[in-house]
Amino acid sequence: MGNKVVKFGGSSLADANQFRKVADIIKSDEKRVYVVPSAPGKRFSDDIKITDMLYKCAELAGSGMDFSEPFNAIKDRYNGIISELGMDVSLDSEFEAIAAELKARPSNDFAASRGEFLNGKLLAAYLGYEFVDAADVIIFDTNGMLLLDDTVAAVRARLKDIKNAVIPGFYGRTTEGYVKTFSRGGSDVTGSIIANAVKAEIYENWTDVSGFLVADPRIVENPDVIESITYRELRELAYMGASVLHEDAIFPVRSAGIPINIRNTNRPSDPGTMIVSDDHDFSNESHAHTITGIAGRKGFSTINIEKAMMNSETGFGMKVLKVLYDNGLSFEHMPSGIDTMSITLDSAKLDPVRDKVLAQIRKEVNPGHLEIEDGIALLAVVGRRMKNTRGTVARIFAAMAHARINVKMIDQGSSELNVIIGVSEHDLPEAIRRIYDMFINSEKNN
Ligand code: ASP
Repeated sequence: MGNKVVKFGGSSLADANQFRKVADIIKSDEKRVYVVPSAPGKRFSDDIKITDMLYKCAELAGSGMDFSEPFNAIKDRYNGIISELGMDVSLDSEFEAIAAELKARPSNDFAASRGEFLNGKLLAAYLGYEFVDAADVIIFDTNGMLLLDDTVAAVRARLKDIKNAVIPGFYGRTTEGYVKTFSRGGSDVTGSIIANAVKAEIYENWTDVSGFLVADPRIVENPDVIESITYRELRELAYMGASVLHEDAIFPVRSAGIPINIRNTNRPSDPGTMIVSDDHDFSNESHAHTITGIAGRKGFSTINIEKAMMNSETGFGMKVLKVLYDNGLSFEHMPSGIDTMSITLDSAKLDPVRDKVLAQIRKEVNPGHLEIEDGIALLAVVGRRMKNTRGTVARIFAAMAHARINVKMIDQGSSELNVIIGVSEHDLPEAIRRIYDMFINSEKNN
């Protein structure tokens, strides 16, 4: 029987009621044997996450100040969950030990990790599962880089004879024995590592949305949920800002060929989104659209360069790119014509050096015309099926033309997995809505 590793995010464990839902989900499938919890998150929009309160404690402790106010608020949150669930457990000795450690050696990583540690203890007691401290199995080197092979070996050895366990997310320890956390949202990474180590059949990541959406719901009203997406497609969309999962959570499961299922704790019967390997067989997939998702990002600038006979001037591109390199700039796209070249890059990175960059390009290649255009948004239309579908780009252009949106740039990746277009920032929301209509709504009506 294959096992499932299930990770629950902070909002899924924010209060006693959420704990009950989580326990119901776990108990409804006996394959859900290893559980990775986050720290209690927000219960309502103005609420404060336990992790943030812990960082506050570390900050106060670090400057020798009294941290009892945030610390008492933390205790109240956990004690509230314990009493509402009617549990016969106490975290008092843990609270005492944490406070003493913070006074003696205030460390951000140690403080922040205690949110998951305490929640793991509580959830293990509530489920009747064994508690396995992540500090025993998730191992970092002295520079804070994860040691994946050592970690996998440690997880396997520790879980070998344990049928059901709760392993807190977000932290581990360095080879020197210090507690170390991943970056924010890092419980996703812990879940992925555990799934890899135990060769899970699936890694379920439970959160407060029913999966990835085809487009941003702040732009498109009630967008569809993506049923399945490949790791590569996900990377394209995530780069453009569509985020549900920590970036580093992909690698451990991807390399082991384990799918990730994004699920909603508040709507457990929703199937969520399946993230699958790039060579997955999709032949049985229902209602598949040509595209998988649309995402956009503002804040780009384009350096437009024109020079007669540019294409016959050897080394032209190299000289221009060397200027970017010398100024520590990377670029996103570089479409070119016979006498023109335009380079799109992040405005925030260009800003501090823009005059220098212009002067150096002028000196190096003596262009006929040189300008920087700001206020560009990039929009990615992503989908594995575009490769075998004719007319995709034509449809994107038709959608833009009908909306009278000027397309400033277009770039199709060689993998034909995505088409990137550049538009004015103020046109971005409408561009996304039109593309959604063209590919999702109209395909539904056919
Ligand atoms: N609790 C940590 C955070 O708020 C880690 C996590 O939730 O994954 O970032």
